Amino acid sequence: MLTENLAVINPSPSPWQKCLDLIQEKIGVSSFETWFRTTEMDALPDGSVSINVPNQFFADFIEEHFGGLIREALAALEIACSTLRFVPIKKDWAIIQPVADSIAEAQNRCVPKAVERTGRFHTNYTFEKFVVGDSNRMAHAAALAVAEAPGKTSFNPLIVYGGTGLGKTHLLQAIGNFAEKEETAEKIVYLTSEEFTNQYISYIIDKKDSTSFFKKFIDVDLLLIDDIQFFGGKPATQKEFYRIFNKLLLESKQIVLSSDRPPDQIKDMMTHIINRFMSGLVTDIQPPNLETRMAILRKKAELDGLSLPGAVIEHIASHITSNVRELEGILIKLIASCSFTGRDITIDVAREICGDIVARNGERISIRLIQQKVADSFNISANQLNAHTRKRDVTLPRYIAMYLAKKWTRQSLRTIGLEFGGRDYSTIIHAFKKIENDQLQSPELQARVEAIEEVLRPLA
Ligand code: ADP
Ligand code: MG
Repeated sequence: MLTENLAVINPSPSPWQKCLDLIQEKIGVSSFETWFRTTEMDALPDGSVSINVPNQFFADFIEEHFGGLIREALAALEIACSTLRFVPIKKDWAIIQPVADSIAEAQNRCVPKAVERTGRFHTNYTFEKFVVGDSNRMAHAAALAVAEAPGKTSFNPLIVYGGTGLGKTHLLQAIGNFAEKEETAEKIVYLTSEEFTNQYISYIIDKKDSTSFFKKFIDVDLLLIDDIQFFGGKPATQKEFYRIFNKLLLESKQIVLSSDRPPDQIKDMMTHIINRFMSGLVTDIQPPNLETRMAILRKKAELDGLSLPGAVIEHIASHITSNVRELEGILIKLIASCSFTGRDITIDVAREICGDIVARNGERISIRLIQQKVADSFNISANQLNAHTRKRDVTLPRYIAMYLAKKWTRQSLRTIGLEFGGRDYSTIIHAFKKIENDQLQSPELQARVEAIEEVLRPLA
């Protein structure tokens, strides 16, 4: 067996080292350090290549996110690779610090590409892997109905809109995946509106032929176009899109579109197109509530073969509130961090990992502001929180304010103590623990604290 290890041992660069150099050029230093620094390659005489990695999580992550890149690099170096495997090897891997941003970066590179042939939808974006909650129930139900019977429901076109990272692309791809697997549609096309625009332009400029562009869509049964807000302000593309759109609708072919805002708020979109949208179903996806965020985390962890402690799930879900993509990013960071260091996934690690985000919020949320919001919620004055009175109706709000100050700002315990009428830091710790524990016992208290956090969040 021919073994090619890292160049560390070998003064002239090994094929794998050359391959790594190519990969590093493509993905940048931080991603590289996180995912590739500790890898090794075995090139076997039968032409297969196996990459040794620290554990199964690594194997899955690298395969999914960098598999294509590795194959390209091997091909560029003319290293034969009939099959590529990622093998978790138990040994003393050097502990390296995971780089959060690189992980997010790696994730961002994984946006689905245009699908013009069948068989290339993102395998993660299926209905089975989509968590349904109040925020997306309608969009999910409509998407499923359309996938089951494309062109046969009244949801035609189906338009799903909502903020970024809330699952629009996931749903569009899930429709594609479903229709392909269950064979409810024959020719399926998924494109982002930018890809649509670019293709259209290149047909006109290079091929000087817009008819053949139009013809590409004639026999499409299911057309999925993501992020149509980018059609805004592009009248020529809109016209072509409208032509195709009308033709397909006339023939009862299914059209599904997504947008980051309601269609009538897309800037410079032709009114007749918007009116036509309204003949189908326009439905939104809202940011998920706490329960749904927890369910999403549970599901994602389960898909990675992990069971996370309830407290960890709750901690992440209550701190990361903006969108699902960010939620996933934190989970990956958490799992990566624990696999690197061999630590168990505990609430402390979760706190550490979420800390960056909470700290970022802390820059704009001051202790004063928290005191004001807590005082407002209890109908007392902010000054009472600093006073040295022990009246019960002030003690609880004061504790809550201290708890929130520790949780939402980056200030030291000493500083927080000072802002609360010069109290000792141990008082802040006591308040923090008390409110944290009491919330577990009292849903009422928990609701109260959450309500104040809901007020703080938009200010972050
Ligand atoms: P959008 O297109 O709205 O910006 P995406 O569809 O790309 O958002 O979703 C961002 C990430 O969050 C994806 O990895 C997706 O799988 C995940 N996601 C979003 N909503 C859900 C959900 N309800 N259940 C499971 N995963 C979700
Ligand atoms: Mg999207």
